[in-house]
Amino acid sequence: MSKYVYLFKEGDQSMRNLLGGKGANLAEMSRLGLPVPQGFTVTTEACNAYYDAGKTISDDIIKQIFEALAATEKEMGKKFGDSEEPFLVSVRSGSRASMPGMMDTILNLGLNNVSVEGLAKKTNNPRFAYDSYRRFIQMFSDVVMDIPKSNYEHLLEKMKEAKGVEADTDLDANDLKVLVDQFLVKYEQLKGQPFPQDPKEQLIEAITAVFRSWDNPRANTYRRLNQIPYDWGTAVNVQGMVFGNMGEDSGTGVAFSRNPSTGEKELYGEYLFNAQGEDVVAGIRTPKPIAELETDNPALYNEFVKLVDTLENHYKDMQDMEFTIEQGKLYFLQTRNGKRTAQAALQIAIDLVNEGVLTKEEALLKVEPKQLDTLLHPQFDADDLASAEVLTTGLNASPGAATGRVAFDADRAREMVAENKQPVILVRVETSPEDIEGMIVASGILTARGGMTSHAAVVARGMGKCCVSGASQLRIDEENKTFTVNGQTFKEGDWISLDGSTGKVYNKQVKTVDATVSGNFGTIMGWADEVRKLDVRANADNPNDASVAYEYGAQGIGLCRTEHMFFEESRIAAMREMIVAPNVEAREKALAKLLPMQREDFKGLYKAMKGYAVTIRYLDPPLHEFLPTQKDDIEALAKEMNMSFEDLHQVIESLHETNPMLGHRGVRLSVTYPEIARMQTQAVIEAAIEVTKEGLTVVPEIMIPLVGEVRELRTIKKVVVETADAIIKASGVDLKYLVGTMIEIPRAALLADEIAKEAEFFSFGTNDLTQMTFGFSRDDAATFLGDYYEQKIFEEDPFQHVDQRGVGKLMKMASTLGREARPNLKLGICGEHGGDPSSVEFCHNIGLSYVSCSPFRVPIARLAAAHAQIKNPR
Ligand code: PEP
Ligand code: MG
Repeated sequence: MSKYVYLFKEGDQSMRNLLGGKGANLAEMSRLGLPVPQGFTVTTEACNAYYDAGKTISDDIIKQIFEALAATEKEMGKKFGDSEEPFLVSVRSGSRASMPGMMDTILNLGLNNVSVEGLAKKTNNPRFAYDSYRRFIQMFSDVVMDIPKSNYEHLLEKMKEAKGVEADTDLDANDLKVLVDQFLVKYEQLKGQPFPQDPKEQLIEAITAVFRSWDNPRANTYRRLNQIPYDWGTAVNVQGMVFGNMGEDSGTGVAFSRNPSTGEKELYGEYLFNAQGEDVVAGIRTPKPIAELETDNPALYNEFVKLVDTLENHYKDMQDMEFTIEQGKLYFLQTRNGKRTAQAALQIAIDLVNEGVLTKEEALLKVEPKQLDTLLHPQFDADDLASAEVLTTGLNASPGAATGRVAFDADRAREMVAENKQPVILVRVETSPEDIEGMIVASGILTARGGMTSHAAVVARGMGKCCVSGASQLRIDEENKTFTVNGQTFKEGDWISLDGSTGKVYNKQVKTVDATVSGNFGTIMGWADEVRKLDVRANADNPNDASVAYEYGAQGIGLCRTEHMFFEESRIAAMREMIVAPNVEAREKALAKLLPMQREDFKGLYKAMKGYAVTIRYLDPPLHEFLPTQKDDIEALAKEMNMSFEDLHQVIESLHETNPMLGHRGVRLSVTYPEIARMQTQAVIEAAIEVTKEGLTVVPEIMIPLVGEVRELRTIKKVVVETADAIIKASGVDLKYLVGTMIEIPRAALLADEIAKEAEFFSFGTNDLTQMTFGFSRDDAATFLGDYYEQKIFEEDPFQHVDQRGVGKLMKMASTLGREARPNLKLGICGEHGGDPSSVEFCHNIGLSYVSCSPFRVPIARLAAAHAQIKNPR
């Protein structure tokens, strides 16, 4: 029989896959002797079994849960539902990867009409007991029974009104007792049955609800964003409750062993006396900085600091901990490696190496490649900022600069972005997991309530998104979609700007400028470069992008899409002339106009890359894309070409394709019009000769796109080689060049051994390879992929992360076949996947020589390549 339930005492840190992160850490903390309220973990396998059995928990698992419960009751010396000293538990999710706020939590479970009396007696605090019971009814209804909290909030408000008080804390025990009765009546009205009084029934319902929450929309969205597989499942932790709201000698808080914003080595966090954890996390009350605990209770503070050090030294990483003080006694409710900003991640990684705690390799693994994005994000333009007015200042919850139009809810944020393609700032009183979709599309997030550990702050930081939280001067009217601050009112669609690094909120759109990176960035990148085996190149089509790429550490250009050079205003006329040319002479005349422009382009690229390889991909898009569609434009071109409007119109019509993506593009163009390949070769080679004469060494790589048959490549290669060799010979310069191809058609992957006989390098064009392997149009797939995610047919977008099982299999096969035919074959990737960390890791694992990605993703790819080498040395 499988074991589905583990007491905290039975587990350890190594059992993360089975017990989830929270469960494994609770077990580890128990093992280390930290003060942890005891409990047990229902495993991730039990979650999978629940789904496999059609969303039911088997009798066997229930039996194991009750056995673990009995053992825990014994350990804690309390009993479920007891009238003297009842045992109460929290029920919380915990998957293998941390998913903050994505799934459900239930506190105070075990309270019923009998045990509430027991709790009142034991604590000598009836007010606390009834307050806990009413919170539990509310939470159980919301999380387990799908009854919105508002049903109860309404009763609470009415009670406060009747008593003439403002705060919940002003209600006394009797008021709360009456409120509990009202809540129970309400529950029965809404559910048609009484509130479950049997704590064991409550427990199984709650565990089921946590399993169910693994599949809620926000969890699914979060998983897709973070590539967390669905079949990992979540574990459920059932833990004895300790209470931070048992008077002024009790409290609760969240702390980080280092500053999660800056990485500075300082205890960082917040706490509240006489409160429960949810008050801190939901930002209902504004907490005090942890440093004040030192004056409030020095002995406790010292004990706390000691245990924080123990945990950090043990895990060798910055810890994020939840704690509760119950009547003067300190408990740790959880610990985990803390989420942190990119700046903090670099600082902590470097400090831990300097402190002798980690090796460079271990430290590199502490920095998430994707996170570097935030370092490369724009900041405000100082001049433009000078004319902006600071409306208010909140907490600097997540760094970066954001400007956008105000949206007051997630749905509107999504609609506004879709409608006018302008950035939005999501403005909320406080965020909750329901806002996740809005947070994803927003450029920045502003909340009126909540501290540095509130939902908005934690989630935004994780996303690397600018966030200002707890801007308490904001008066938000969600109904009328306005907010007022310092006498100014803003409505939906008005522009504001946020600085997530200072917490300042500005009254208008503020221009942003590119980010500059710190010395720490250089240090980490340097370490990554020492480790990685995979080269990183950039996709760049102009000298400017190439220079940015070079600055970010690109070791060459892996893809220059030459068609991007022809779309420019100054060139399009010559290009159009070339396409509609009635004969070869006319075409060559037009190409002769393009030649000097191309040559200058290539010289610029070679120079920007300072001798690194530059891969030039020959013209790829369907020709008709260049042709005019407006009547005026057609008339103008006809005049220029000395053609009649009708003749030109006919040429344009004849170039129309039903399915241009599978049409006359790539190598097929050169097959029809070899003059194009000839002109491009001349430009590539002449430019290389010129820069060689200026003292730069360059080996151009000529890349023929969309090849599916070796004879296509052979035909065009012949044109290229004849042209190139003649020019080189005449120049007297010793110039080497390579001719290779993209592998982006499945047939090319299947016949890679044949193709490698002609190609000196392969570059995987995974955009087209994904399109053609799946048979999904890369331009249209987004319209239906949503349904695929919803129905769990796909867990992630194959255009974003290499589909390792299908497309990846073709890549692997092509690499092996190619290298069998040509052992020194250079292998790269230049599809969008080249800057995606999981795809970079895959490319490392299958032995590619380089990845190529957009300039801003170069640092991400460098770090991802280092991670790949550390995890799987080659
Ligand atoms: C590709 O198909 O992956 C590729 C890089 O080429 P393009 O995106 O230009 O089609
Ligand atoms: Mg392509």
